[in-house]
Amino acid sequence: MSSPTPTADPDQIIDTSKMSADKRAALEIAEGARDRTGNEGLAAQLFMGRFAHDLLSEFPSQSDEDRAIGDDLCERVGAFLKANLDPEEVDASRTIPEAVVRGLAEMGIFAMKVPKVYGGLGFSQVNYNRVMMRIASWCGSTAVLVSAHQSIGVPNPLKLFGTDEQKQKWFPQFRKGAISAFALTEPDVGSDPSKMTTQARLSEDGKHFILSGEKLWCTNGPIADIMVVMARTPPKVVNGIEKPQITALVVEKGMPGIEVAHRCDFMGIRAIQNGLIRFNDVRVPVENVLWGEGKGLKLALTTLNTGRLTLPAATTGMAKQCLSFCRRWGAERTQWGLPIGAHEFGRHKLAWIASHTLAMEAVTWLTSHWADQGRDLRLEAAMAKLFTSETAWKIVDMTMQMRGGRGYEKAVSLKARGEEPYPVERMMRDCRINMIIEGTSEIMRLYLAREAMDPHLRLAADVIRPGVPTGVKMRAGAKLAAHYSAWYASQWFNAGLWHHHNEMGGLAGHYQYIESGAHRMARSMFHHMGMYRDKLERRQLILGRLMDIGTDLFAMAATCSYARHLGTDAAERLADHFCREAIRRIESTYRELAANHDPVTNQVGKSVLAGDMRWLEEGVEWIGKQS
Ligand SMILES: Cc1cc2nc3c(=O)[nH]c(=O)nc-3n(C[C@H](O)[C@H](O)[C@H](O)COP(=O)(O)OP(=O)(O)OC[C@H]3O[C@@H](n4cnc5c(N)ncnc54)[C@H](O)[C@@H]3O)c2cc1C
Repeated sequence: MSSPTPTADPDQIIDTSKMSADKRAALEIAEGARDRTGNEGLAAQLFMGRFAHDLLSEFPSQSDEDRAIGDDLCERVGAFLKANLDPEEVDASRTIPEAVVRGLAEMGIFAMKVPKVYGGLGFSQVNYNRVMMRIASWCGSTAVLVSAHQSIGVPNPLKLFGTDEQKQKWFPQFRKGAISAFALTEPDVGSDPSKMTTQARLSEDGKHFILSGEKLWCTNGPIADIMVVMARTPPKVVNGIEKPQITALVVEKGMPGIEVAHRCDFMGIRAIQNGLIRFNDVRVPVENVLWGEGKGLKLALTTLNTGRLTLPAATTGMAKQCLSFCRRWGAERTQWGLPIGAHEFGRHKLAWIASHTLAMEAVTWLTSHWADQGRDLRLEAAMAKLFTSETAWKIVDMTMQMRGGRGYEKAVSLKARGEEPYPVERMMRDCRINMIIEGTSEIMRLYLAREAMDPHLRLAADVIRPGVPTGVKMRAGAKLAAHYSAWYASQWFNAGLWHHHNEMGGLAGHYQYIESGAHRMARSMFHHMGMYRDKLERRQLILGRLMDIGTDLFAMAATCSYARHLGTDAAERLADHFCREAIRRIESTYRELAANHDPVTNQVGKSVLAGDMRWLEEGVEWIGKQS
């Protein structure tokens, strides 16, 4: 089936003419920073109604040599942390001991992703994530120190976008233990970077950018030797229109004017050094621009894309700990004449935690291997982040429930009473942030929706964009109709009926479900696009449901393939259980798509925001400003 070639300027795909100036500015900046290359990845194809199972026919694995390298560092770092770092003390004192940071640096932990030619360990993403899983399973704060430095801090964008000269200059420092940070967020700039106020203006001699402004919640910022800072540089005029420019600058410790205005204190990961960093006319040499002027937001988003792959490994490390706590406690604790794990409620938790931990691991290793193969992972990384952060939170919550009162008690208190100090309370505090950092769950769903709809929007660009001459619109409309009549019809042929997937053994039925599920999801997305047209962008509950379906289908595919790769009956049984749970969620989500009370929800939410329900807040002592 041939597709009509998109003819419109991709910049103009979304009609912003009816939007408020603020919203238009935000959208145009976000669209300008998007990677607009086509996407043939597994997730993108699922949204277009095709399950590309050939991509999973062999679950990727490490070479013996690469595995041995990872085994060695995992063992060493695990033993080192166990001997030298008490995570409860770290949590209570909000400090990771200097000696531990030094010890990690000596092992090369801060240079895992630095290429060998620049003195680093040159680790594959798989080995890097294996080490991160180890660290995260022991101490959340230490994991965030290493990850903020290396997944999003200077090493990652430097590797992706730095010149050889820049790499020669900065990479070797990381082998010596230099720590870096990534500074995008500002007090008024969170998920939407369009209102960024940190500025970098060119000095009169053109040799420096003069940086001024504030960056909030910058992890490692207060102790960073080097950081990448996104700032506004003077706008450029393109086709008569002024385009805002965001540029990435490498800022080094010791440059006069950097001020740590405040160290933030959080619910969890309490020992991270995270702060409000103020730049008071800091002179940054123009050679410190990464990738080029105006490319800073795209750099930040691309960095986050691969940076996001660490969080699945870290959360899987936590999930494995929870599984272990629940198995041991479920067998040890007897109530009402049975071990609590043998009651049906207990069994449900054990089965859910184990099968979802396998799914998290599958998604983690699949995306890590694919990153090493250089595949485009825009959608898969976002799905992995969304799926693992939300699943980890449910797992920690279930673990706390299974531990009962002991789950709520601090590990130090348990230890003082002579009990096993399982740190579920700390893990719950450490875990919650994962649904917020590196793109909130809501933003991940909206990002996925934008990317999932992109092929349709591109095809329809000439029809929907304003200002296109009528003749062009009509020709584009005819082409579109021809394309969709063939594409849409193909979505009703259930490929799952003739692909039996015997190669999947006991999991074949789930592969068939994914195959027909992809068609059904593509049809459903198409129906909703037709029903709501340009208003679909505002129907976030609908988009969110569709993205949740897509994410579960992706996780099912990864899990089945991983279980077959592991090749044991136990892995297959866990994968089967995970798929049954995922299918139950998907079917329930389809029911919600078909029959929901979204309009009522919208009305009630609107009234609450307008203050109509303020009466319900009466009867308590007000905290904070009266409004
Ligand atoms: C511990 C910690 C570490 C961090 N580390 C770093 C770091 O190293 N570097 C850095 O630059 N930043 C860092 N951040 C910032 C973090 O990335 C942001 O908190 C995150 O991007 C969300 O921004 P926000 O908190 O301003 O929330 P907002 O963007 O204000 O969002 C608040 C809520 O509104 C929702 N929302 C926002 N937009 C929409 C929309 N269009 N539709 C529907 N819902 C929406 C969000 O999902 C969220 O639930 C860190 C934050 C914390 C707490």
